[in-house]
Amino acid sequence: MLPAGNSRLADDVRLSFVASLYQQRGTLFAGMVAHVVTTVAIYFRIDDPFYLYAAFALFVVWLIRNLDMMAFDRVEKADFKLADTLRWERRYVTGSFVTCSLLGTISGHALVVSQDSFAELVSVSVTLASMISVVGRNFGSKLNVDMLVLAACLPIMAGLIMASDLYMSLMALLLLPLFLTTRSMANAVREFLFNSVTAERTTAEIADRFDTALNNMSHGLFMLNGEGRIQVVNRKAREFFHIDEQVNLTGRVLKAALRLGARRGIIARENFSEISHQLEKLVDGSESRTLVRFDKSSWLEFSARHRGEKGVVLTFEDVSARIQAEKRILRMARFDNLTGLPNRSWFKEIVSTKMARAKPGSHIALAVLDIDDFKHVNDTMGHVSGDKLLSAIATRLRSLSRHKFVVSRFGGDEFVVFLPLVSDTDDLGRIMDTVSDTLCGTYIIDGHKLFVGISSGVAMAPVEDAKIEDLHIQADLALYEAKRRDKERWCQFENTMDQDYQQRQRLKVDLREAIRNNEMSLVYQPMFTPDGTRIAGAEALSRWCHRELGPVSPAVYIPLVEEMGIVGDLTRNVVEQAVCDCAGWSGSQFVSINLSARDLADREIVSVIADALDRHNLAPERLQLEVTESGLMDDLETACEILAELRAMGMIIAIDDFGTGYSSLSYLDKLPLNKVKIDRSFVSNLTEDPRKLKLLRGVVNLSRELELDIVVEGVETEDQLKLIQENDCADLIQGYIFGAPMPAGAYVELAQRLARPTMSRSLPAAAK
Ligand code: C2E
Ligand code: MG
Ligand code: MG
Repeated sequence: MLPAGNSRLADDVRLSFVASLYQQRGTLFAGMVAHVVTTVAIYFRIDDPFYLYAAFALFVVWLIRNLDMMAFDRVEKADFKLADTLRWERRYVTGSFVTCSLLGTISGHALVVSQDSFAELVSVSVTLASMISVVGRNFGSKLNVDMLVLAACLPIMAGLIMASDLYMSLMALLLLPLFLTTRSMANAVREFLFNSVTAERTTAEIADRFDTALNNMSHGLFMLNGEGRIQVVNRKAREFFHIDEQVNLTGRVLKAALRLGARRGIIARENFSEISHQLEKLVDGSESRTLVRFDKSSWLEFSARHRGEKGVVLTFEDVSARIQAEKRILRMARFDNLTGLPNRSWFKEIVSTKMARAKPGSHIALAVLDIDDFKHVNDTMGHVSGDKLLSAIATRLRSLSRHKFVVSRFGGDEFVVFLPLVSDTDDLGRIMDTVSDTLCGTYIIDGHKLFVGISSGVAMAPVEDAKIEDLHIQADLALYEAKRRDKERWCQFENTMDQDYQQRQRLKVDLREAIRNNEMSLVYQPMFTPDGTRIAGAEALSRWCHRELGPVSPAVYIPLVEEMGIVGDLTRNVVEQAVCDCAGWSGSQFVSINLSARDLADREIVSVIADALDRHNLAPERLQLEVTESGLMDDLETACEILAELRAMGMIIAIDDFGTGYSSLSYLDKLPLNKVKIDRSFVSNLTEDPRKLKLLRGVVNLSRELELDIVVEGVETEDQLKLIQENDCADLIQGYIFGAPMPAGAYVELAQRLARPTMSRSLPAAAK
């Protein structure tokens, strides 16, 4: 039997052997003809009917076997089990066995019965010849070989022995080696054939698996021999280079594949030689991995595995998506999303590289730019328009890059510019003027014309001493100064600014402490009727006497308190104190309190005030609240709602410093106002400049139209007073002419003095 009949491979081999038996129809037919002709010839020679019957039997056996073969053809063999193969093998072997037995019997009959030399010679030789060929065909089964040999030889041996002739018996013995040789030949052929068929099958299976693996790889592959010629190329590689299966690449050099790729547009022509060069390096072993750019958006990563003399295996992967993603991530990490300008960290990297390369002895500068009232743009036009403005400014800034400036957006409306080549302060001045001229001006955003001002602070240093972080701090200080100075578009850092900054930082610490401990005090500045005979009320003004620095002006510390975000605490203290003081004042005098922008952004102020009025039992009509235009503008809607609520409770709402802020008269009627406090800038040179008076009268007329009471601030001289009186420009006057801010006690005394019927106005000197 065939070895290891259980394995699928052995089963397949066995089936192929059995199938080969059933295919030898021509041999079978030739054998049958030879047997029948021989047997019939013997019959004619010796006239023994046995041979005729034998011929007929041989023919019938052939016929049955032939039919069996046709039946085998019709059977579906794909699902053949081993048992089916064995069944068909048995049927075939049975046919062979019967044929061999018949031939053996004919030979035996010739030797024993006929004893005719022609019959003996012909039958024995045909039997032996057939036996060898039959056995040869049936080598698949050891048992079958033995049975067939015995079936053919035994009758001959029996016939030879039964002839009772010594030589014949010797012949019978000589058949034994023939039997053994035939058997061992069959065995050897079977082993050999089985091994070679199995090996062929195994090789085919391995080749098939290799092919499947190769063609299903996600990587492309070229296997090159020692001469750099292609031995194997997989499907992925063909797909990438757009090379059909029909194009034979075996034996061609790698460049040939590249050329085909270039012809099909996979490789940009200008990249061809660079790519060949890169791949040559891989093939000759000087590199083992390389990233190859095929065209603008396509990147392949090649790896090489060297096989010594045998050549090299190149695998590659399309990494375009990864490279694009990496580029995107890098872009996101380095550039500001909105404007596309370098962000803070990338800016720092570029700048440090530039500084490292700068010529020793040269100067560098750093400018910090800030859009004036950007919050106002955001609040009034919305954040989308705000973003568009930032992008438009970035575009103008980018145009400055031609001067080798490095521009960047640090966030919000803060832009930073690095100026690498500045020769001196004058040069810096020219550069900064160019920057300001480029950026300041009119922008069209969503169809609206916007005039945009930009304030900048700039700091300069010799490149050897420069530290970018320090320059940034200094430029920030200079920017603060530029904003403070208001009219100046840019400001260069000076050492005093640093001192101012340190001072401010110190003041902030102390301020926090002072407000927490309620160390601030209040002074009151009276508001007089224009003739100066009567006090209508007073403005409460905060005062801070620093334990070391002495009195600090509110113009200095109020902005700091606002900056620190603790102005609400200060207001709370002022409200409490002022309401308490006013409750002790005689008559209907009011007290006026300044509210800051932050107070108007939080509804809590309403309850703070209501609570104070309640506790001190002061009528709301005796409390006046002053708001500035800029304070209103921060969040106009909320501020209006809060003011409307306070006014509805009965309080007086006044707009303070009118004419200094946005000076937009258009919103005057939209606000819940009772009073306008005209800023002292309208009064300062009223007597010298006739236009000032016209302006004042204009504002006064408009306010009167809107039924607003008018307080004129900052009246200092008799002449100013006279003009105001003559032109009927005020309902109340607040100024040094009648009274400077004074402590609560002094104010009460003054008010009482004036209330006495005999008292007439002898005030300026007394009040100051
Ligand atoms: P303001 O509300 O406009 O107050 C009037 C300022 O003008 C006061 O300055 C006052 O001393 C000054 N003044 C009054 N009459 C004259 C005059 O005839 N000539 C000149 N040259 N000045 C005059 P002060 O007290 O230094 O206050 C400055 C600003 O600080 C105030 O301007 C106000 O905006 C703010 N402020 C003061 N106290 C408070 C407070 O308690 N809370 C808030 N939020 N702000 C306050
Ligand atoms: Mg005021
Ligand atoms: Mg004022």
